[in-house]
Amino acid sequence: MVRTAVVDRNYCKPDKCSLECIRFCPVNRGKRKKAIELSSDGKYAIIYEETCIGCGICVKKCPFNAISIVNLPDELEKILVHRYGENMFKLYNLPAPRTGGILGVIGRNGAGKSTSIKILAGQIKPNLGNYSNPPEWDAIIRYFRGSELQSYFTKLANNEIKAVVKPQYIEAARRVLKGSVRELIMKADEKGLWRDIIDELNLSHLLDRKISELSGGELQKFLVAAVLVKNGNAYFFDEPCSYLDIRERIRVASAIREFSNYEKNYVVIVEHDLMVLDYMSDNIVVVYGEPGVYGVVSKPYGTRAGINHYLKGYLPAENMRIRDEELRFRIHMQERRDVATTYPVLKWDAIEYRYESSGFKLRVEPGEAYAGEVLGIVGPNGVGKTTFLKLLNGEIESPEKAILISAEKVSVKPQELSPKVFSEETVMANLKSASPVALDPSSWLYNELVRKLGLNKMLDRRVDELSGGELQKLAVAVALARDADLYFLDEPSAYLDVEERITTAKTIRRIVEEKGKTALVVEHDLLMQNYISDKIIVFLGKPGIEGYASSPVDIRTGFNRLLKELDITVRRDSESGRPRINKPGSVMDREQKTRGEYYLP
Ligand code: ADP
Ligand code: ADP
Ligand code: SF4
Repeated sequence: MVRTAVVDRNYCKPDKCSLECIRFCPVNRGKRKKAIELSSDGKYAIIYEETCIGCGICVKKCPFNAISIVNLPDELEKILVHRYGENMFKLYNLPAPRTGGILGVIGRNGAGKSTSIKILAGQIKPNLGNYSNPPEWDAIIRYFRGSELQSYFTKLANNEIKAVVKPQYIEAARRVLKGSVRELIMKADEKGLWRDIIDELNLSHLLDRKISELSGGELQKFLVAAVLVKNGNAYFFDEPCSYLDIRERIRVASAIREFSNYEKNYVVIVEHDLMVLDYMSDNIVVVYGEPGVYGVVSKPYGTRAGINHYLKGYLPAENMRIRDEELRFRIHMQERRDVATTYPVLKWDAIEYRYESSGFKLRVEPGEAYAGEVLGIVGPNGVGKTTFLKLLNGEIESPEKAILISAEKVSVKPQELSPKVFSEETVMANLKSASPVALDPSSWLYNELVRKLGLNKMLDRRVDELSGGELQKLAVAVALARDADLYFLDEPSAYLDVEERITTAKTIRRIVEEKGKTALVVEHDLLMQNYISDKIIVFLGKPGIEGYASSPVDIRTGFNRLLKELDITVRRDSESGRPRINKPGSVMDREQKTRGEYYLP
């Protein structure tokens, strides 16, 4: 076994503890050797992996959970690709890109997916674990001898790989990119195909829009387009679906298939929306390990089998259990009726509303909601979801006085995430301003929101240091901690991995049930939407022009209606029962369409 000690420098704060890790270490106490001491600048602890005996005392003593010690099998060291530095994250193996198909990557946040992409794209030179004396390309190529990565790295070393990357976080692009969609896409275009790609992604009507004015979903599609117009031979898409509705996710998938020329080029996609990843990829690798400590990239699997293995938590080719329990998406098709239905807490009649200034028209079917109910919202952006919410809480008044029981206080989790959406500097201060009770470790709110979402480990951290997934969990927790009649959560899954999506969905349900309030959850990951909601409101229409909102209906009816509109059919996987999108024109697709059964017949 090889001892691996990781000290998270974001968490290690020697000036705020009493150096318990150093004082209680049995090796240090023996006085002959040291296993742990302070760095020369005194800012963090250093653990010497050769002398550390792996007792784990420092791990338990550290008040900030900054230390992890794991013992890893010797064989893994033979595939160590990169270590960021002393006591830092280790990445084992890499996804081996192949021509002739799209390679999907799935796994926990913090397990090394973005690191893998950076290495394959040539942004990080792999150091094979030797961070103090990094090897040259010759040695790197020798190291990968006999594997598919050898030829890839030979090309990379000879500058024969022209890599283009769609980065994970799109918010940064907005700050850097100046100009209109037309100017920037024409400048980026190297294939003379910008018009076709812009058309395929349905961006043509936005050509004269400034990048700074694009919505999150529009910016995401623009960035995908900006990658596809490049004349590369290795394309990497790090989470290309965040902020997109289901129709746009399918559009992005089709555009990548059509314009990346995966027959000849390398194409790698990291994505957590399992239905869409399944639809986009030909093969899958699973990245497992311990987030922030180490990550291992699995062998490639066929897409269907790979996703099923991932959900089961067991990888047969490596004989590796990656999780104790199976991830199960409870697929319920009928109304969940364990909520009391005597008195609705929200009730509305049919509504017709029109903004005079923009002319946007919204038509809403009547509906009601009960205490403890989660109403899912599916449908495109720009068709009046926010307007509907404002009608419900009286921020705008419906002409017919159609709101029969309204929500006075609404707590909103906005779609787009950036540190700017938080009013306070630290995680703790934001939670405190939402509800002081949420910070009391003996309260159920603390247990449900802070502990279960893992925020207890980062209470002291500043919001501008958090990753996208951490920001998302904080945003959901802050929204749910507030006292309100109605919780409106816009895309709570963005930037979360599959495990975190399930935990967050459970948290949302429990808080809403416990508080006896209602939540409206806009969610485009249909697996997650199916998991979280009691009923569905389907929004349809022409973005910016008119919108239509259905009454709340059961999941089967709602998804059928949505998918019919999108002309997509979804079948059930025979082994795992999970929903899978049919290839257009396939036998199943045609049969389901003939029968009018678009969702899980
Ligand atoms: P993923 O994309 O799977 O979420 P990443 O590849 O972004 O994971 O990061 C994996 C781990 O590597 C993270 O937990 C982080 O702690 C660490 N890491 C990422 N970038 C750096 C860096 N520049 N220096 C040190 N550690 C890093
Ligand atoms: P969604 O939440 O589904 O994205 P919104 O309800 O925010 O949609 O907006 C629907 C349409 O109404 C958009 O085209 C938007 O431009 C328009 N709109 C929103 N607010 C106003 C307003 N105050 N005045 C005029 N038009 C508006
Ligand atoms: Fe010392 Fe034990 Fe921590 Fe190793 S694991 S540094 S031996 S306290």
